[in-house]
Amino acid sequence: MDWLKNYINYIREVMRGEEYLSEREKFTLILHICAFSHLMFAVLFFCFDNILLMLYNLLSFLIYESMISFAKNKRFKVITFAMSFEVSLFVILTTLAYGSGLHFNLFCFLMIPATFYVTNSTKAFKHPYLVSSGISIISLGTYIFSIMYKTERYQALFEKSPKLVTATSIINIFITVLLLALFSAIFTIEMKNSTLTLENRTKQLKALSSIDPLTKLANRRSMTEKLNIAMHLLKKDKKVFSLILGDIDDFKKVNDTYGHDCGDKVLVMVADTITSQLRDGDFVCRWGGEEILILVNGNIDAARSLAERILAKIKATDVVYENKKVYVTMTFGVAEANESLRIEDFIQKADNRLYYGKSHGKSQVVAQNPPVV
Ligand code: GH3
Ligand code: MG
Ligand code: MG
Repeated sequence: MDWLKNYINYIREVMRGEEYLSEREKFTLILHICAFSHLMFAVLFFCFDNILLMLYNLLSFLIYESMISFAKNKRFKVITFAMSFEVSLFVILTTLAYGSGLHFNLFCFLMIPATFYVTNSTKAFKHPYLVSSGISIISLGTYIFSIMYKTERYQALFEKSPKLVTATSIINIFITVLLLALFSAIFTIEMKNSTLTLENRTKQLKALSSIDPLTKLANRRSMTEKLNIAMHLLKKDKKVFSLILGDIDDFKKVNDTYGHDCGDKVLVMVADTITSQLRDGDFVCRWGGEEILILVNGNIDAARSLAERILAKIKATDVVYENKKVYVTMTFGVAEANESLRIEDFIQKADNRLYYGKSHGKSQVVAQNPPVV
């Protein structure tokens, strides 16, 4: 029973647009439906004692089933033309035999959505609209022929077996409606599928465009967005925030001594350590090469103690590279936001303090203006 469960799950996923229905699967499904319908018609014509049409339908059943190998080889053009030709031929033959009273001619209308769908859902057709319009016109012509053609044989058949004739009409109407519903469902599934794929791609692209691939921190662009929001909230709700601008000390030396890969490892360690120390509402980004900018949800004291905590953690965490311990320190400049400052000036303020720290021994947190000399 597991296969049944799996199959039901698969159908559900296809309906939700989560599972992809391949071209091959679509064509195979359509061919099976055609083959099965003809098998049913073969039985029907046997009941009508029409051996010729019974044989025609048996042959059609076999041809449709054998065309499944064409679907496997992606020969979708052959399948489409063969199917259109067969449906028109079938309607003409049944019309010549019994007129249009049995409603086999309804299949002409089925050809219209079917060919539009089939020709547009594969890349096999260079001019899908031209092909489907052409097939639609032929179907229309076949339908008009079927209603214009007059024969006495329908009346004779009806008198002979009225129940069977009525049942045939109902079955044909039923099949037509069922297949029209199936095509509509497939259209909807395809639409859902492509919308979902598009949504996922957009999400992926958005994530890629806002995240630094090495450190997995947000990048400068997303920080700028956050800063604009924080500035807006400061002006509107007096929501205080601060900035910490950090820069790894003597990072060039790390690269020069141990190599670029080791430098990358240090960057990842620094990013992970900082992330582990943040609280809700704080936001960190890779501002530049080895510069990190942290937006702190709090005043300058909160930001300073956070920077000091981060510095202590980084100093305590050695990076081991090729059995060698690499000692890492950082310098931080901290500033509190001010309504009268523009964002750029505010970052500059933190940068000035960082610069002061760099030129006065590094490995420290500077949270006040450098003394004026
Ligand atoms: P200071 O203490 O004054 O900050 O000195 P420093 O050597 O850290 O500063 P400097 O600006 O001279 O050098 C920064 C180096 O960071 C230079 C650049 O090659 C390196 N760098 C920038 N981005 C990356 C990266 O993604 N990976 C690695 N491994 N190195 C990087
Ligand atoms: Mg540096
Ligand atoms: Mg630097």
